[in-house]
Amino acid sequence: MKSGEKSIDLGGRKLIAMRDVQDAVTAGATSIAVAASSVVTPSARDFLQQHGIELVTEKAAGGSQQAAQPATAAVAAPAAVNRRLFSSPEAEAIKKEICAVGRKLWMRQFVDGNGGNISYRIGPNEVLCSPTLVSKYDLTPDDIGMTDIEGVQIAGAKPRTSELLLHLEIYKAVPEAKAVVHCHPPHATAYAITGRVPPNLIIPEFEVFVGKVAVSPYETPGTQAFAETVLPYVKTHNTVLLSNHGIVCWADTVTHAEWYAEVLETYCWTLLIASQLGVPISQISEKQGDDLLAIKKKLGLPDIRFDASRMKECQLSDLEVPGSIALAPTPCDGPRSRSASASDGDLESLVKSVTDAVMDAMGK
Ligand SMILES: [Zn+2]
Repeated sequence: MKSGEKSIDLGGRKLIAMRDVQDAVTAGATSIAVAASSVVTPSARDFLQQHGIELVTEKAAGGSQQAAQPATAAVAAPAAVNRRLFSSPEAEAIKKEICAVGRKLWMRQFVDGNGGNISYRIGPNEVLCSPTLVSKYDLTPDDIGMTDIEGVQIAGAKPRTSELLLHLEIYKAVPEAKAVVHCHPPHATAYAITGRVPPNLIIPEFEVFVGKVAVSPYETPGTQAFAETVLPYVKTHNTVLLSNHGIVCWADTVTHAEWYAEVLETYCWTLLIASQLGVPISQISEKQGDDLLAIKKKLGLPDIRFDASRMKECQLSDLEVPGSIALAPTPCDGPRSRSASASDGDLESLVKSVTDAVMDAMGK
């Protein structure tokens, strides 16, 4: 070891959480040694990475050291480790955050009855989640359970939400997704039940935090088929409208996932109000939109418009109906719903009948 370097040995611990690595770094560690069987929480790994601290795994008996396994490796932990993780300070903090977010969702009327659900991927194979049949207003930390990445409950007194399968598919498809929030905000759900998406280039905050929303096809909630409907979209969209149901958002934290639900809902609501003013909604320019996309890229948020090869298919719908607040999804944002095609037909026949009536009146 070079001078100025200091390795702190945490090999005796089965679970290494944020507080453990913070203490080691405060004590001057430039590297941390852990046992091969230790579970290092994602927050602890992120903290070490941010501070340039090396994480080395000790071999069991007199072997040499090697770089630790990546956080994404899904390996089932023993029951005792699960219990420690479930009651660790980090898990307790996230349980409180899930409850606070649940209350925000209820206060903003994004959930009704026992609707909506919230989860956080606390380990490579461990997910904290809200229970079934509890109002999000009434959630307490004791209600939060923990499952493995396949949805099998491994801790907590109350049964997990039936819609967890949706969250798990997102975690498996998108390694950056640490938190998922599913809810039914009324104005965004109005888009979801018409199979339409809101237009872009109107409000900067929406462009940066959400940008493009996708629409996934309808399937019965709680089923594996439903969970898989979002898979074509979640890598390139952090927010998806679930046809005839609600919305789902993923982020790096539970709080941020709830922010995206708020940003989308307020955007949809504002568009609906503006559409009643009787004057066209003004859009910002493509160039100004590019400036916002650059900010978004710096924040590390996903957007399908970063993929230049798919840009054209993303823009088709925006050009199709200038000034409309409800657009048919483009190929990059989801399937055109049957109701969308039907209302296109309705609109065409309405335009034809109005035109015929005007021509008749002019002829008289
Ligand atoms: Zn739902």
